[in-house]
Amino acid sequence: SDSHFPVPISPHHVNHSLHYPHFFPNSNSDSDSRKIEFADIGCGFGGLLISLATLFPNTLMIGMELRDKVTEYVKERILALRISNPTQYQNVSVVRTNSMKYIPNYFQKSQLSKMFFLFPDPHFKEKNHRRRVISPFLLDEYAYVIKDGGIIYTITDVEELGEWMKSCLENHPLFEGLSDEELEADPVVKLLSCATEEGQKVERNGGQTFRAVYRRIVPTV
Ligand code: SAM
Repeated sequence: SDSHFPVPISPHHVNHSLHYPHFFPNSNSDSDSRKIEFADIGCGFGGLLISLATLFPNTLMIGMELRDKVTEYVKERILALRISNPTQYQNVSVVRTNSMKYIPNYFQKSQLSKMFFLFPDPHFKEKNHRRRVISPFLLDEYAYVIKDGGIIYTITDVEELGEWMKSCLENHPLFEGLSDEELEADPVVKLLSCATEEGQKVERNGGQTFRAVYRRIVPTV
């Protein structure tokens, strides 16, 4: 249960020197003004983060994962990569947490430029829809922590969930869909279907995927 992992009481209490010792060599987290900018929600085995780490070497990013063993695996994976590539992977980390409860404990208003929801659990039954990581209620929270112009990336192989995520985003006043040209020009979009372990599984099985990529906007009054 949640009582088994610590939760920072506010974003100010996130221990940067623990996650990114190269950027924050002192235990005083304020030694660098850099903030975490990308969050991979339900990161699983971390494939996306590993790809993003070298694509955006100066951007701090974190995976949030509920399963203890999976989180430990990702930690080990990052540490091993840091050892074999001493100048790389210093900008990536992972934390075990319940993202549906603790996003506001980790990120301040307008802190994030990208949030990822790749192949989230579908929770098929109607009564379980409230457990979905994209919902009208949670989108309010994500809109709070994402900066204006920041982007939410979602993808799934479950058609019904894809439609659900798209309609939640489409109906939210603080998000707008990217145009086809913008999707084409964004190098991150190409990673959605192939960088994670779940995405690779779907690709191997020749499965279809359903994507929704939306930008945080300032509403016009
Ligand atoms: N994104 C990864 C990928 O594409 O390979 C993993 C996809 S997996 C189907 C969904 C992941 O979300 C699981 O690892 C699960 O433990 C995690 N998860 C589910 N609910 C969560 C929550 N409330 N907070 C954090 N992680 C969660």
